[in-house]
Amino acid sequence: MSGSAPTTAQHHSCDGCTMCCKIMGIAELSKPRNQWCPNCDVGKACKIYAERPQSCRDFDCIYLLDDTLAEHWKPSRSRMVLTRYQAARLCVHVDPDRPDAWRKEPYYSDLKAWSRIAAQSRSMIAVYVGENLTIVLPDRDKFLGNVNADKQMRFVTRSTPKGVEYDVELVDNPVTS
Ligand code: SF4
Ligand code: SF4
Repeated sequence: MSGSAPTTAQHHSCDGCTMCCKIMGIAELSKPRNQWCPNCDVGKACKIYAERPQSCRDFDCIYLLDDTLAEHWKPSRSRMVLTRYQAARLCVHVDPDRPDAWRKEPYYSDLKAWSRIAAQSRSMIAVYVGENLTIVLPDRDKFLGNVNADKQMRFVTRSTPKGVEYDVELVDNPVTS
């Protein structure tokens, strides 16, 4: 987070971005999601970079990891931080001060294109705005609201006379139930 990336022109960098320091929760600091970290010099850097918590060191920002991602996905510009949950979910964490950021272009078309690719391996594009979750599917978006740990998502395909329909269902989480 905040300043950990290379700064050469060919690589994505954190320069000018501190969005993860607002959007992500930091357990070691009891920092909730969607609130600026008190250690953040907003838009510049982490003020305790050398001593930042382990979860900040371990944070995998997709924008930094994937140099093929278009520059408009820089979180300071898109107001969205991309992460991955296991192999099955690309997570889009939206700044709640710009709740519709994911619906705007060119972002929405990117998300739809990614959902078509993801569906081939039964994985999902999950958009988080505050407590609310929406799954972007190839043929529609499914609003799930606040999904607690008692539930987990299951990707569903159905053959219909019109072709394949995609859906996501909530089922009991065997780990918590
Ligand atoms: S959101 Fe990504 S690019 Fe922005 S500061 Fe955090 S790690 Fe760097
Ligand atoms: S400790 Fe530093 S890197 Fe971690 S969230 Fe706060 S400002 Fe960001």
